[in-house]
Amino acid sequence: MTLPPNVHDAEPIPNAAREAIDTLMRSGDLFRYTAPQDAPVALLEAEFAEMMGCKYALAVSSCSAALFLSLKALGLPRDARVLIPGFTFAAVPSSVVHADCVPVLCEVGENYRVDMDDFAAKLDGVQAVIISHMRGHTSDMDAIMALCDARGIPVIEDAAHSLGTTWAGRKIGTIGRVGCFSFQSYKMINAGEGGILVTDDADLVARAVIMSGAYEHNWQKHKGPRGENSPALANAFARWQNKLPLYNLRMSNLSAAVIRPQLPELARRVRDGLKNHDYVAARLEQSPHIEVPAPLAPEQRAPDSIQFNLVGLTDADTSAFAEAAAARGVKVQIFGMSTDNARAFWNWQFLGDLPELPRTRAMLMRACDVRLPVRLTRDELDVIADLLLDAMAEITGPMARAIPA
Ligand SMILES: *Cc1c(COP(=O)(O)O)cnc(C)c1O
Repeated sequence: MTLPPNVHDAEPIPNAAREAIDTLMRSGDLFRYTAPQDAPVALLEAEFAEMMGCKYALAVSSCSAALFLSLKALGLPRDARVLIPGFTFAAVPSSVVHADCVPVLCEVGENYRVDMDDFAAKLDGVQAVIISHMRGHTSDMDAIMALCDARGIPVIEDAAHSLGTTWAGRKIGTIGRVGCFSFQSYKMINAGEGGILVTDDADLVARAVIMSGAYEHNWQKHKGPRGENSPALANAFARWQNKLPLYNLRMSNLSAAVIRPQLPELARRVRDGLKNHDYVAARLEQSPHIEVPAPLAPEQRAPDSIQFNLVGLTDADTSAFAEAAAARGVKVQIFGMSTDNARAFWNWQFLGDLPELPRTRAMLMRACDVRLPVRLTRDELDVIADLLLDAMAEITGPMARAIPA
């Protein structure tokens, strides 16, 4: 039997991180606000904002923290309704609950994107929207922004797993009022844990900075674009001094030291990830029972995993396929079938009354998720594709297996 490649490990952290970490170890200077200037966290914020073409960035402890702070920074009243997709990670409804708001779930289609009819139908009475670009699959941001702008509803982009994706040439996470990214180990840039939010809104970022834990006058260490002093930012900080609670969701200098040398790697990771994804997609689509939904035309993906739908299989066949793949050493997660999956809305029981979303449920019961770290070689991708096609053949009977070009 051919052994499947290890798909759990991320890429090694670039060597440049060692020197920065060594310096921090020697000085013990791990807190972002100790140094008068140029702390690794502050440098990361400046570099990330510049890379994304945004005015401001705030690094925090996780993407979940960034989502929570975004909602708090919007100043939403208690019990405000926040529209979120019915297919997302449990951290998203959790951030809404944490911010004392009420999540409203909308349907997601079998292409993993927000169902725009249901979205439009549920917008009335909503005071904010979070769009989760789940596994990087980008919903129709033109239609979403048109609907939300017409009603003055702010959009938060949950781009946790979408760093490097573009929509009509614009970077995902920079289209809404605020964008949130994750540096957890399964995302494009890995610090174990960490998150960052980006925005062009000085008032919003000032509120988020203070609530993230910039107590007293630590906000003075946050600068405007290109590290310059920004009067808009200074005015906003003066406005909010002592007026907001401190949640202490800061990032440590150690995390920033691990993240910064990975930023120049991003373009290559995106290129490799897309090439690998499209190669495996083409191979899997040789099976009539596997369908990889196409991206919407304006989207350029940055995948480090592949999602596909099983076609023409019963529930029992679907489970049997996942088991046959597991027996060959390839983990296929079927979002709606694995026990207590955090991306299946019916498991978000902390919400109390759960709505039914029949379209989203049907999609989750056939949608498969397989990790494809961008470092995989062509041979390793072939092993994964072969094993998945073998598993399918075991369930559905033998299929002519085309030889890869
Ligand atoms: C990973 C992920 C999150 C949570 O990110 P953390 O940094 O672990 O809090 C939220 N939303 C989506 C879509 C994710 O993929």
